[in-house]
Amino acid sequence: MLQSLMSDDHPLTLALLFERAATQFPDNELVSRFPDGSIHRYTYADFARRTRKLANALATLGIEPGDRVATLCWNEHRHLELYFAVPLSGAVVHTLNARLHRDELTYIVNDAADSALFVHSSLLDAFEEIRDRVSVEHVIVIPDDGPTPEGYRDYEELIADEPEQFEPPPLDERQASGMCHTSGTTGRPKGVLYSHRSTTLLALMSCMTDTVGMHERDCMLPVVPMYHANAWGFPYAATYAGAKQVFPGRDLSAESLLGLFADEGVTLTGGVPTVFLDVLRALDERPGEWDLSAMRSLVIGGSAAPPSQIAGFDRHGLHVTHAWGMTEMNPLGSIANLKRAHDGLDEADTLEVRARQGHAQPLIEFRHVAEDGVVQPWDGVALGELQVRGPTIARAYYGVDRADDFVGDGWFRTGDIVTIDEHGSILIADRARDVVKSGGEWISSVALENALMAHPGVVEAAVFAAEDERWGERPLAAVVHAPGSSVEAEELREFIAPQFLRWWLPAEFIPVDSVPKTSTGKFDKVALRERYGRRLIEGGE
Ligand code: ADP
Repeated sequence: MLQSLMSDDHPLTLALLFERAATQFPDNELVSRFPDGSIHRYTYADFARRTRKLANALATLGIEPGDRVATLCWNEHRHLELYFAVPLSGAVVHTLNARLHRDELTYIVNDAADSALFVHSSLLDAFEEIRDRVSVEHVIVIPDDGPTPEGYRDYEELIADEPEQFEPPPLDERQASGMCHTSGTTGRPKGVLYSHRSTTLLALMSCMTDTVGMHERDCMLPVVPMYHANAWGFPYAATYAGAKQVFPGRDLSAESLLGLFADEGVTLTGGVPTVFLDVLRALDERPGEWDLSAMRSLVIGGSAAPPSQIAGFDRHGLHVTHAWGMTEMNPLGSIANLKRAHDGLDEADTLEVRARQGHAQPLIEFRHVAEDGVVQPWDGVALGELQVRGPTIARAYYGVDRADDFVGDGWFRTGDIVTIDEHGSILIADRARDVVKSGGEWISSVALENALMAHPGVVEAAVFAAEDERWGERPLAAVVHAPGSSVEAEELREFIAPQFLRWWLPAEFIPVDSVPKTSTGKFDKVALRERYGRRLIEGGE
Protein backbone atom coordinates (compact mmCIF):
# COMPACT_ATOMS: atom_id res chain seq x y z
CA MET A 1 0.00 0.00 0.00
CA LEU A 2 1.31 3.43 -0.85
CA GLN A 3 1.01 5.57 2.28
CA SER A 4 0.00 9.18 1.80
CA LEU A 5 2.36 11.98 2.67
CA MET A 6 -0.29 14.00 4.48
CA SER A 7 -0.15 15.17 8.11
CA ASP A 8 -2.77 12.58 8.97
CA ASP A 9 -1.64 12.37 12.56
CA HIS A 10 -2.27 16.07 13.23
CA PRO A 11 -4.92 15.66 15.92
CA LEU A 12 -8.46 17.00 15.53
CA THR A 13 -8.81 18.63 18.93
CA LEU A 14 -10.75 21.47 20.47
CA ALA A 15 -7.51 23.48 20.42
CA LEU A 16 -8.15 24.01 16.69
CA LEU A 17 -11.59 25.48 17.38
CA PHE A 18 -10.36 27.62 20.22
CA GLU A 19 -7.31 29.06 18.46
CA ARG A 20 -9.32 29.86 15.36
CA ALA A 21 -11.84 31.90 17.33
CA ALA A 22 -9.08 33.64 19.29
CA THR A 23 -6.96 34.57 16.30
CA GLN A 24 -9.44 34.99 13.43
CA PHE A 25 -12.43 36.55 15.17
CA PRO A 26 -11.09 38.33 18.29
CA ASP A 27 -13.57 41.19 18.04
CA ASN A 28 -16.76 39.15 17.62
CA GLU A 29 -19.12 39.29 20.53
CA LEU A 30 -20.36 36.90 23.20
CA VAL A 31 -23.42 38.05 25.12
CA SER A 32 -24.96 36.63 28.30
CA ARG A 33 -28.09 37.45 30.24
CA PHE A 34 -27.89 37.23 34.04
CA PRO A 35 -30.88 36.22 36.22
CA ASP A 36 -31.61 39.90 37.06
CA GLY A 37 -32.02 40.58 33.34
CA SER A 38 -28.78 42.54 32.97
CA ILE A 39 -26.55 41.83 29.99
CA HIS A 40 -22.85 40.97 29.92
CA ARG A 41 -20.82 41.44 26.76
CA TYR A 42 -17.29 40.61 25.81
CA THR A 43 -15.32 39.48 22.77
CA TYR A 44 -13.62 36.26 21.67
CA ALA A 45 -10.32 37.96 22.60
CA ASP A 46 -11.59 38.41 26.17
CA PHE A 47 -13.00 34.89 26.15
CA ALA A 48 -9.69 33.43 24.99
CA ARG A 49 -7.71 35.35 27.61
CA ARG A 50 -9.99 34.23 30.45
CA THR A 51 -10.18 30.64 29.19
CA ARG A 52 -6.36 30.40 29.26
CA LYS A 53 -6.33 31.81 32.80
CA LEU A 54 -8.97 29.25 33.78
CA ALA A 55 -6.93 26.43 32.25
CA ASN A 56 -3.97 27.54 34.37
CA ALA A 57 -6.22 27.70 37.43
CA LEU A 58 -7.31 24.10 36.84
CA ALA A 59 -3.67 23.04 36.94
CA THR A 60 -3.22 25.02 40.16
CA LEU A 61 -6.14 23.08 41.64
CA GLY A 62 -4.35 19.88 40.73
CA ILE A 63 -6.75 18.79 37.99
CA GLU A 64 -4.98 16.19 35.89
CA PRO A 65 -5.58 14.91 32.37
CA GLY A 66 -8.55 12.55 32.35
CA ASP A 67 -10.10 14.02 35.52
CA ARG A 68 -13.78 14.84 35.32
CA VAL A 69 -14.71 18.44 36.01
CA ALA A 70 -18.43 18.95 36.47
CA THR A 71 -20.52 22.00 35.59
CA LEU A 72 -23.91 22.78 37.10
CA CYS A 73 -24.61 25.87 35.06
CA TRP A 74 -27.07 27.63 32.79
CA ASN A 75 -26.12 28.79 29.29
CA GLU A 76 -23.67 31.56 29.96
CA HIS A 77 -20.22 32.74 28.81
CA ARG A 78 -18.36 31.22 31.78
CA HIS A 79 -19.91 27.88 30.92
CA LEU A 80 -18.32 28.33 27.49
CA GLU A 81 -14.98 29.09 29.15
CA LEU A 82 -15.27 25.75 30.95
CA TYR A 83 -16.31 24.04 27.69
CA PHE A 84 -12.83 24.85 26.38
CA ALA A 85 -10.51 25.28 29.38
CA VAL A 86 -11.29 21.83 30.81
CA PRO A 87 -10.65 19.77 27.64
CA LEU A 88 -7.71 21.98 26.62
CA SER A 89 -6.11 20.95 29.94
CA GLY A 90 -6.68 17.33 29.00
CA ALA A 91 -9.52 16.91 31.50
CA VAL A 92 -13.16 16.08 30.76
CA VAL A 93 -15.98 18.60 31.10
CA HIS A 94 -18.96 16.80 32.64
CA THR A 95 -22.17 18.77 32.25
CA LEU A 96 -24.84 18.17 34.91
CA ASN A 97 -28.51 18.60 34.13
CA ALA A 98 -29.82 21.26 36.51
CA ARG A 99 -33.37 19.93 36.24
CA LEU A 100 -32.61 16.38 37.33
CA HIS A 101 -34.00 14.85 40.47
CA ARG A 102 -31.46 15.18 43.31
CA ASP A 103 -31.03 11.39 43.61
CA GLU A 104 -30.09 11.16 39.94
CA LEU A 105 -27.73 14.11 40.25
CA THR A 106 -26.04 12.38 43.17
CA TYR A 107 -25.76 9.17 41.22
CA ILE A 108 -24.27 10.94 38.20
CA VAL A 109 -21.65 12.90 40.16
CA ASN A 110 -20.59 9.72 41.94
CA ASP A 111 -20.67 7.67 38.73
CA ALA A 112 -18.25 10.09 37.08
CA ALA A 113 -16.22 10.58 40.29
CA ASP A 114 -15.97 14.28 39.51
CA SER A 115 -12.88 15.96 40.98
CA ALA A 116 -14.21 19.49 40.80
CA LEU A 117 -17.56 21.15 40.32
CA PHE A 118 -18.32 24.62 38.97
CA VAL A 119 -21.77 25.80 39.94
CA HIS A 120 -23.76 28.95 39.24
CA SER A 121 -24.70 30.69 42.48
CA SER A 122 -28.35 30.48 41.41
CA LEU A 123 -27.99 26.66 41.42
CA LEU A 124 -26.10 26.38 44.67
CA ASP A 125 -29.22 25.27 46.54
CA ALA A 126 -29.47 22.22 44.28
CA PHE A 127 -25.86 21.35 45.03
CA GLU A 128 -26.30 21.92 48.78
CA GLU A 129 -29.00 19.24 48.75
CA ILE A 130 -26.60 16.58 47.47
CA ARG A 131 -23.39 17.90 49.02
CA ASP A 132 -23.21 15.30 51.78
CA ARG A 133 -23.78 12.45 49.38
CA VAL A 134 -21.00 13.23 46.91
CA SER A 135 -17.27 13.67 47.32
CA VAL A 136 -16.06 16.46 45.08
CA GLU A 137 -12.71 17.90 46.09
CA HIS A 138 -13.17 21.42 44.74
CA VAL A 139 -16.40 23.40 44.51
CA ILE A 140 -16.17 26.73 42.72
CA VAL A 141 -19.07 29.14 42.53
CA ILE A 142 -19.75 31.21 39.44
CA PRO A 143 -21.66 34.22 40.73
CA ASP A 144 -24.68 34.91 38.52
CA ASP A 145 -27.43 36.06 40.87
CA GLY A 146 -25.32 37.64 43.61
CA PRO A 147 -21.91 37.38 45.24
CA THR A 148 -20.35 34.03 46.07
CA PRO A 149 -21.41 33.04 49.62
CA GLU A 150 -18.86 32.73 52.44
CA GLY A 151 -17.12 29.39 52.57
CA TYR A 152 -17.05 28.88 48.79
CA ARG A 153 -14.34 29.59 46.27
CA ASP A 154 -15.24 32.24 43.77
CA TYR A 155 -14.66 31.71 40.04
CA GLU A 156 -13.50 35.23 39.34
CA GLU A 157 -11.03 35.13 42.22
CA LEU A 158 -9.83 31.72 41.12
CA ILE A 159 -8.72 32.97 37.72
CA ALA A 160 -7.82 36.58 38.62
CA ASP A 161 -4.08 36.18 39.18
CA GLU A 162 -3.41 33.38 36.73
CA PRO A 163 -1.11 34.06 33.75
CA GLU A 164 -2.70 34.84 30.39
CA GLN A 165 -0.46 32.44 28.50
CA PHE A 166 -1.38 28.78 28.38
CA GLU A 167 0.23 26.00 26.40
CA PRO A 168 -2.11 22.99 26.15
CA PRO A 169 -0.47 19.65 26.94
CA PRO A 170 -0.18 17.30 23.96
CA LEU A 171 -3.74 16.17 23.25
CA ASP A 172 -4.74 12.94 21.58
CA GLU A 173 -7.79 13.42 19.38
CA ARG A 174 -9.27 10.21 20.77
CA GLN A 175 -9.12 11.27 24.38
CA ALA A 176 -12.32 12.28 26.08
CA SER A 177 -13.17 15.98 26.04
CA GLY A 178 -16.68 15.88 27.44
CA MET A 179 -19.13 13.72 29.29
CA CYS A 180 -22.90 13.80 29.43
CA HIS A 181 -25.31 11.41 31.08
CA THR A 182 -28.50 10.41 29.31
CA SER A 183 -31.56 11.40 31.28
CA GLY A 184 -32.21 7.83 32.36
CA THR A 185 -35.96 7.60 31.87
CA THR A 186 -35.43 3.86 31.83
CA GLY A 187 -32.98 2.62 34.42
CA ARG A 188 -30.00 4.58 35.65
CA PRO A 189 -28.56 7.48 33.66
CA LYS A 190 -25.71 6.33 31.45
CA GLY A 191 -22.51 8.30 30.88
CA VAL A 192 -21.51 9.11 27.32
CA LEU A 193 -17.92 10.22 26.70
CA TYR A 194 -17.29 12.60 23.81
CA SER A 195 -13.84 12.74 22.24
CA HIS A 196 -11.98 15.77 20.92
CA ARG A 197 -12.20 14.23 17.48
CA SER A 198 -15.95 13.61 17.46
CA THR A 199 -16.68 17.08 18.85
CA THR A 200 -14.43 18.72 16.29
CA LEU A 201 -16.01 16.72 13.47
CA LEU A 202 -19.47 17.66 14.71
CA ALA A 203 -18.51 21.34 14.78
CA LEU A 204 -17.23 21.10 11.21
CA MET A 205 -20.37 19.29 10.11
CA SER A 206 -22.57 21.94 11.66
CA CYS A 207 -20.78 24.58 9.59
CA MET A 208 -21.82 22.93 6.32
CA THR A 209 -24.49 24.71 4.34
CA ASP A 210 -26.57 21.54 3.98
CA THR A 211 -26.74 21.06 7.73
CA VAL A 212 -27.15 23.92 10.18
CA GLY A 213 -24.79 26.05 8.09
CA MET A 214 -23.20 27.91 11.01
CA HIS A 215 -21.04 30.78 9.76
CA GLU A 216 -19.21 33.86 10.95
CA ARG A 217 -22.08 36.24 10.31
CA ASP A 218 -24.47 34.13 12.36
CA CYS A 219 -25.70 35.16 15.76
CA MET A 220 -26.43 31.92 17.59
CA LEU A 221 -28.65 31.63 20.65
CA PRO A 222 -28.76 28.10 22.09
CA VAL A 223 -32.02 27.63 23.99
CA VAL A 224 -31.16 23.96 24.40
CA PRO A 225 -29.21 23.82 27.66
CA MET A 226 -25.43 23.45 27.57
CA TYR A 227 -25.93 20.53 29.96
CA HIS A 228 -27.93 18.64 27.36
CA ALA A 229 -25.66 16.94 24.81
CA ASN A 230 -23.36 19.97 24.52
CA ALA A 231 -26.34 22.13 23.55
CA TRP A 232 -26.37 20.03 20.37
CA GLY A 233 -22.77 21.09 19.72
CA PHE A 234 -23.88 24.64 18.87
CA PRO A 235 -21.43 26.45 21.19
CA TYR A 236 -18.53 24.48 19.71
CA ALA A 237 -19.66 25.03 16.13
CA ALA A 238 -20.35 28.72 16.73
CA THR A 239 -16.92 29.22 18.30
CA TYR A 240 -15.28 27.45 15.39
CA ALA A 241 -17.17 29.62 12.92
CA GLY A 242 -16.50 32.77 14.96
CA ALA A 243 -20.23 33.50 15.12
CA LYS A 244 -21.66 35.91 17.66
CA GLN A 245 -23.16 33.91 20.53
CA VAL A 246 -25.97 34.89 22.87
CA PHE A 247 -26.49 32.93 26.08
CA PRO A 248 -29.96 33.33 27.61
CA GLY A 249 -29.05 32.22 31.15
CA ARG A 250 -31.78 30.85 33.33
CA ASP A 251 -34.84 32.60 31.92
CA LEU A 252 -36.17 30.67 28.93
CA SER A 253 -39.57 32.36 28.87
CA ALA A 254 -40.89 33.43 25.48
CA GLU A 255 -40.66 37.07 26.55
CA SER A 256 -36.96 36.79 27.45
CA LEU A 257 -36.05 34.81 24.35
CA LEU A 258 -37.96 37.03 21.92
CA GLY A 259 -36.39 40.10 23.50
CA LEU A 260 -32.91 38.67 22.95
CA PHE A 261 -33.73 37.50 19.42
CA ALA A 262 -34.76 41.03 18.49
CA ASP A 263 -32.20 43.07 20.46
CA GLU A 264 -29.17 41.01 19.50
CA GLY A 265 -30.13 40.21 15.90
CA VAL A 266 -30.20 36.45 16.47
CA THR A 267 -30.02 34.52 13.18
CA LEU A 268 -30.02 30.96 14.47
CA THR A 269 -31.46 29.31 17.55
CA GLY A 270 -32.30 25.81 18.67
CA GLY A 271 -34.35 24.03 21.31
CA VAL A 272 -37.12 21.56 22.08
CA PRO A 273 -40.69 21.96 20.75
CA THR A 274 -42.14 22.90 24.16
CA VAL A 275 -40.10 26.08 24.47
CA PHE A 276 -41.00 27.11 20.94
CA LEU A 277 -44.67 26.44 21.63
CA ASP A 278 -44.60 29.35 24.07
CA VAL A 279 -42.62 31.48 21.62
CA LEU A 280 -45.19 30.84 18.89
CA ARG A 281 -48.07 31.64 21.22
CA ALA A 282 -46.46 34.96 22.16
CA LEU A 283 -45.97 35.81 18.48
CA ASP A 284 -49.58 34.93 17.70
CA GLU A 285 -50.83 37.07 20.57
CA ARG A 286 -48.58 40.05 19.89
CA PRO A 287 -47.67 39.96 16.19
CA GLY A 288 -45.18 42.60 15.07
CA GLU A 289 -43.93 43.33 18.58
CA TRP A 290 -40.46 41.88 17.97
CA ASP A 291 -38.30 42.53 14.92
CA LEU A 292 -37.12 39.05 13.99
CA SER A 293 -36.02 39.91 10.46
CA ALA A 294 -32.47 38.65 11.13
CA MET A 295 -33.63 35.14 12.11
CA ARG A 296 -32.87 32.56 9.42
CA SER A 297 -33.66 29.32 11.23
CA LEU A 298 -35.16 27.89 14.39
CA VAL A 299 -33.67 24.42 14.82
CA ILE A 300 -36.25 22.33 16.66
CA GLY A 301 -35.57 18.80 17.90
CA GLY A 302 -35.27 16.63 20.98
CA SER A 303 -38.81 15.46 20.35
CA ALA A 304 -40.99 15.70 17.27
CA ALA A 305 -41.80 19.21 16.10
CA PRO A 306 -45.51 19.02 15.20
CA PRO A 307 -46.28 20.11 11.61
CA SER A 308 -48.71 22.66 13.07
CA GLN A 309 -45.79 24.29 14.86
CA ILE A 310 -43.67 24.43 11.70
CA ALA A 311 -46.61 25.94 9.77
CA GLY A 312 -47.30 28.32 12.66
CA PHE A 313 -43.80 29.81 12.44
CA ASP A 314 -44.12 29.98 8.64
CA ARG A 315 -47.04 32.38 9.22
CA HIS A 316 -44.61 34.72 10.96
CA GLY A 317 -41.99 34.34 8.23
CA LEU A 318 -39.80 32.19 10.49
CA HIS A 319 -38.22 29.02 9.15
CA VAL A 320 -38.14 25.88 11.30
CA THR A 321 -35.40 23.32 10.66
CA HIS A 322 -36.48 20.02 12.19
CA ALA A 323 -33.57 17.93 13.50
CA TRP A 324 -33.13 14.65 15.29
CA GLY A 325 -30.32 13.39 17.46
CA MET A 326 -29.31 11.60 20.62
CA THR A 327 -26.92 12.17 23.49
CA GLU A 328 -25.04 9.10 22.24
CA MET A 329 -24.49 10.82 18.86
CA ASN A 330 -22.85 14.00 20.18
CA PRO A 331 -25.76 14.58 19.24
CA LEU A 332 -26.94 15.60 15.74
CA GLY A 333 -28.12 12.70 13.58
CA SER A 334 -30.41 14.04 10.91
CA ILE A 335 -31.92 17.20 9.60
CA ALA A 336 -35.09 17.68 7.54
CA ASN A 337 -33.75 20.05 4.91
CA LEU A 338 -35.44 19.86 1.52
CA LYS A 339 -33.53 18.14 -1.26
CA ARG A 340 -33.57 18.86 -4.98
CA ALA A 341 -35.92 15.88 -5.33
CA HIS A 342 -38.56 17.78 -3.34
CA ASP A 343 -38.72 20.68 -5.80
CA GLY A 344 -42.22 21.21 -7.10
CA LEU A 345 -44.07 19.68 -4.14
CA ASP A 346 -47.15 21.58 -3.05
CA GLU A 347 -47.33 23.30 0.33
CA ALA A 348 -48.91 20.39 2.20
CA ASP A 349 -46.42 17.82 0.88
CA THR A 350 -43.50 20.15 1.55
CA LEU A 351 -44.67 20.51 5.14
CA GLU A 352 -44.89 16.75 5.40
CA VAL A 353 -41.22 16.45 4.34
CA ARG A 354 -40.09 19.22 6.69
CA ALA A 355 -41.88 17.59 9.63
CA ARG A 356 -40.03 14.29 9.17
CA GLN A 357 -36.83 13.88 11.15
CA GLY A 358 -34.89 14.09 7.89
CA HIS A 359 -31.87 12.57 6.26
CA ALA A 360 -28.54 11.59 7.78
CA GLN A 361 -25.94 14.20 8.65
CA PRO A 362 -22.60 13.92 6.86
CA LEU A 363 -20.47 11.06 8.27
CA ILE A 364 -23.58 9.30 9.63
CA GLU A 365 -25.17 6.19 8.11
CA PHE A 366 -28.71 4.92 8.72
CA ARG A 367 -30.45 1.59 8.46
CA HIS A 368 -33.57 0.22 10.10
CA VAL A 369 -34.08 -3.31 11.22
CA ALA A 370 -37.21 -5.35 11.97
CA GLU A 371 -37.63 -7.35 15.17
CA ASP A 372 -36.34 -10.47 13.37
CA GLY A 373 -33.07 -8.64 12.55
CA VAL A 374 -33.84 -8.13 8.85
CA VAL A 375 -32.75 -4.78 7.37
CA GLN A 376 -35.83 -3.01 5.99
CA PRO A 377 -36.33 -1.30 2.62
CA TRP A 378 -36.44 2.49 2.27
CA ASP A 379 -40.04 2.54 1.05
CA GLY A 380 -41.66 4.85 3.58
CA VAL A 381 -43.80 1.99 4.89
CA ALA A 382 -41.66 -0.71 6.53
CA LEU A 383 -41.13 -0.07 10.22
CA GLY A 384 -37.95 -0.97 12.04
CA GLU A 385 -35.58 0.15 14.76
CA LEU A 386 -33.19 2.81 13.53
CA GLN A 387 -29.51 1.94 13.75
CA VAL A 388 -26.79 4.50 13.14
CA ARG A 389 -23.06 4.34 12.43
CA GLY A 390 -20.35 6.97 12.22
CA PRO A 391 -17.36 8.66 13.87
CA THR A 392 -19.41 10.92 16.15
CA ILE A 393 -21.35 8.07 17.78
CA ALA A 394 -20.53 6.47 21.13
CA ARG A 395 -19.11 2.94 21.09
CA ALA A 396 -20.07 2.08 24.67
CA TYR A 397 -21.37 3.71 27.84
CA TYR A 398 -19.01 4.80 30.58
CA GLY A 399 -18.50 1.96 33.02
CA VAL A 400 -21.65 0.08 32.02
CA ASP A 401 -21.84 -3.30 30.41
CA ARG A 402 -24.61 -2.72 27.90
CA ALA A 403 -23.03 -4.30 24.87
CA ASP A 404 -26.45 -5.10 23.45
CA ASP A 405 -26.98 -1.43 22.57
CA PHE A 406 -23.89 -1.48 20.44
CA VAL A 407 -24.01 -4.22 17.85
CA GLY A 408 -20.71 -5.78 16.88
CA ASP A 409 -20.43 -4.30 13.42
CA GLY A 410 -20.38 -0.68 14.61
CA TRP A 411 -24.10 0.05 14.41
CA PHE A 412 -25.73 1.67 17.42
CA ARG A 413 -29.34 0.75 18.18
CA THR A 414 -31.17 4.01 18.77
CA GLY A 415 -34.37 2.58 20.25
CA ASP A 416 -36.35 4.71 17.80
CA ILE A 417 -38.91 2.97 15.60
CA VAL A 418 -38.94 4.56 12.16
CA THR A 419 -39.83 4.32 8.52
CA ILE A 420 -37.31 5.57 5.94
CA ASP A 421 -38.54 6.97 2.63
CA GLU A 422 -36.90 6.66 -0.78
CA HIS A 423 -35.01 9.92 -0.18
CA GLY A 424 -33.38 8.51 2.96
CA SER A 425 -35.51 10.61 5.29
CA ILE A 426 -36.56 9.04 8.57
CA LEU A 427 -39.94 9.43 10.25
CA ILE A 428 -40.05 8.48 13.91
CA ALA A 429 -43.17 6.59 14.88
CA ASP A 430 -42.13 6.13 18.49
CA ARG A 431 -39.39 5.39 20.89
CA ALA A 432 -39.36 1.60 21.24
CA ARG A 433 -40.25 1.84 24.91
CA ASP A 434 -43.19 4.17 24.19
CA VAL A 435 -44.67 2.13 21.38
CA VAL A 436 -48.39 1.35 21.59
CA LYS A 437 -49.08 -2.19 20.47
CA SER A 438 -52.73 -2.89 19.90
CA GLY A 439 -53.78 -6.38 18.85
CA GLY A 440 -50.09 -7.03 18.06
CA GLU A 441 -49.84 -4.07 15.66
CA TRP A 442 -47.87 -0.86 16.17
CA ILE A 443 -49.66 2.44 16.47
CA SER A 444 -47.54 5.57 16.08
CA SER A 445 -48.15 7.82 19.07
CA VAL A 446 -46.14 10.60 17.40
CA ALA A 447 -48.44 10.61 14.35
CA LEU A 448 -51.51 10.83 16.59
CA GLU A 449 -49.96 13.62 18.66
CA ASN A 450 -49.09 15.65 15.58
CA ALA A 451 -52.63 15.29 14.24
CA LEU A 452 -54.17 16.34 17.56
CA MET A 453 -51.85 19.33 17.97
CA ALA A 454 -53.03 20.60 14.59
CA HIS A 455 -56.43 21.35 16.20
CA PRO A 456 -56.59 25.02 17.20
CA GLY A 457 -58.16 24.10 20.55
CA VAL A 458 -55.21 21.89 21.54
CA VAL A 459 -51.92 23.16 22.92
CA GLU A 460 -50.25 19.84 23.65
CA ALA A 461 -51.25 16.22 23.23
CA ALA A 462 -49.35 13.17 24.43
CA VAL A 463 -50.42 9.70 23.33
CA PHE A 464 -49.39 6.66 25.37
CA ALA A 465 -50.25 3.01 25.91
CA ALA A 466 -52.88 1.85 28.38
CA GLU A 467 -53.44 -1.78 29.23
CA ASP A 468 -56.49 -3.33 27.62
CA GLU A 469 -57.97 -6.75 28.25
CA ARG A 470 -58.92 -7.44 24.70
CA TRP A 471 -56.24 -5.68 22.63
CA GLY A 472 -53.29 -5.83 25.00
CA GLU A 473 -52.84 -2.08 24.71
CA ARG A 474 -54.88 0.84 23.45
CA PRO A 475 -53.73 4.41 22.93
CA LEU A 476 -54.93 7.14 25.27
CA ALA A 477 -54.40 10.87 24.66
CA ALA A 478 -53.65 13.40 27.39
CA VAL A 479 -54.71 16.75 26.00
CA VAL A 480 -53.92 20.29 27.14
CA HIS A 481 -56.60 22.66 25.89
CA ALA A 482 -55.83 26.12 24.56
CA PRO A 483 -56.94 28.88 26.95
CA GLY A 484 -60.70 29.35 26.58
CA SER A 485 -61.12 26.21 24.46
CA SER A 486 -63.48 23.49 25.60
CA VAL A 487 -63.17 21.15 22.66
CA GLU A 488 -64.91 17.85 23.39
CA ALA A 489 -63.42 14.40 22.97
CA GLU A 490 -65.87 13.58 20.20
CA GLU A 491 -64.82 16.61 18.17
CA LEU A 492 -61.15 15.67 18.54
CA ARG A 493 -61.89 12.13 17.46
CA GLU A 494 -63.74 13.35 14.36
CA PHE A 495 -60.98 15.88 13.62
CA ILE A 496 -58.26 13.25 13.36
CA ALA A 497 -60.37 10.29 12.19
CA PRO A 498 -59.89 10.90 8.42
CA GLN A 499 -56.12 10.47 8.77
CA PHE A 500 -56.07 7.15 10.61
CA LEU A 501 -57.43 3.64 10.64
CA ARG A 502 -60.29 3.34 13.12
CA TRP A 503 -58.41 1.16 15.57
CA TRP A 504 -55.60 3.74 15.79
CA LEU A 505 -57.91 6.34 17.36
CA PRO A 506 -57.31 6.94 21.08
CA ALA A 507 -59.72 5.13 23.35
CA GLU A 508 -60.02 8.26 25.48
CA PHE A 509 -59.03 11.90 25.38
CA ILE A 510 -58.13 12.94 28.90
CA PRO A 511 -58.06 16.68 29.59
CA VAL A 512 -54.97 17.65 31.63
CA ASP A 513 -53.56 20.99 32.82
CA SER A 514 -50.11 20.12 31.55
CA VAL A 515 -48.28 17.11 30.15
CA PRO A 516 -45.54 15.88 32.51
CA LYS A 517 -42.09 16.41 31.00
CA THR A 518 -38.72 14.72 31.49
CA SER A 519 -35.68 16.73 32.57
CA THR A 520 -34.85 17.25 28.91
CA GLY A 521 -38.31 18.53 28.01
CA LYS A 522 -39.84 15.43 26.41
CA PHE A 523 -43.33 14.09 27.13
CA ASP A 524 -42.87 11.83 30.15
CA LYS A 525 -44.80 8.78 29.02
CA VAL A 526 -43.60 6.69 31.94
CA ALA A 527 -45.35 9.14 34.27
CA LEU A 528 -48.46 9.14 32.07
CA ARG A 529 -48.59 5.36 32.02
CA GLU A 530 -48.13 5.22 35.78
CA ARG A 531 -51.04 7.60 36.26
CA TYR A 532 -53.48 6.46 33.58
CA GLY A 533 -52.09 3.17 32.25
CA ARG A 534 -54.67 0.92 33.96
CA ARG A 535 -57.59 3.20 33.39
CA LEU A 536 -59.25 1.04 30.73
CA ILE A 537 -59.14 -1.96 33.03
CA GLU A 538 -59.92 -0.35 36.34
CA GLY A 539 -61.92 2.65 35.15
CA GLY A 540 -60.75 6.28 35.39
CA GLU A 541 -61.58 9.06 37.76
P1 ADP B 1 -32.63 11.97 26.76
O1 ADP B 1 -31.48 12.04 27.68
O2 ADP B 1 -33.78 12.85 27.08
O3 ADP B 1 -33.03 10.59 26.37
P2 ADP B 1 -31.66 12.47 24.11
O4 ADP B 1 -31.56 13.81 23.52
O5 ADP B 1 -30.49 11.62 24.02
O6 ADP B 1 -32.06 12.74 25.56
O7 ADP B 1 -32.90 11.73 23.51
C1 ADP B 1 -32.82 11.19 22.23
C2 ADP B 1 -34.17 10.75 21.78
O8 ADP B 1 -35.04 11.86 21.65
C3 ADP B 1 -34.17 10.11 20.43
O9 ADP B 1 -33.81 8.76 20.50
C4 ADP B 1 -35.61 10.32 19.99
O10 ADP B 1 -36.47 9.34 20.53
C5 ADP B 1 -35.97 11.64 20.61
N1 ADP B 1 -35.88 12.71 19.61
C6 ADP B 1 -34.86 13.58 19.43
N2 ADP B 1 -35.14 14.42 18.42
C7 ADP B 1 -36.36 14.08 17.93
C8 ADP B 1 -37.19 14.56 16.88
N3 ADP B 1 -36.86 15.58 16.12
N4 ADP B 1 -38.38 13.93 16.68
C9 ADP B 1 -38.75 12.89 17.45
N5 ADP B 1 -38.02 12.39 18.45
C10 ADP B 1 -36.83 12.98 18.69
